Amino acid sequence: MNVDNNRVVSITFTLTDGDGKTLDATQSDKPLDYLHGAETLLPALERALEGKAVGESCKVTIPPQEGFGEINPELIQNVPAAAFQGVDRIEPGMAFEAKGPSGEVERVLVEAVEGDQVLINANHPLAGVTLNFDVTVVAIREADEAEIAHGHVH
Ligand code: ZN
Repeated sequence: MNVDNNRVVSITFTLTDGDGKTLDATQSDKPLDYLHGAETLLPALERALEGKAVGESCKVTIPPQEGFGEINPELIQNVPAAAFQGVDRIEPGMAFEAKGPSGEVERVLVEAVEGDQVLINANHPLAGVTLNFDVTVVAIREADEAEIAHGHVH
């Protein structure tokens, strides 16, 4: 059996950035299961896995524009510390969830604190990052009807 639409594929992977730093990796005994063709993985990664058989590996380099986008400077801005109600102490590296302009929840990272001004960054943490996936297919099975209807693995 090969990786194809409407099949549940189990993969192990290591994700490194352009400098070779490991960003994410599956535990060897805990592969990631996904429904192929349901757009749950990055499209460039699904394309690379298409047609692979169990045991096959591939290396995929995904540039930011096909990954999580380029860094948008407009999403990096100063806000008054008073905007963080109920937070005793705001420090660089803290992450908050905020409602975006269209109501979606976005993650906001505190980059710096200067007096009563807080520099926040609402870019995706992987924006601007080249993603290097080293992926191995460890299992493939047909998805059942409910999984296909729901668009995810049960
Ligand atoms: Zn479901």
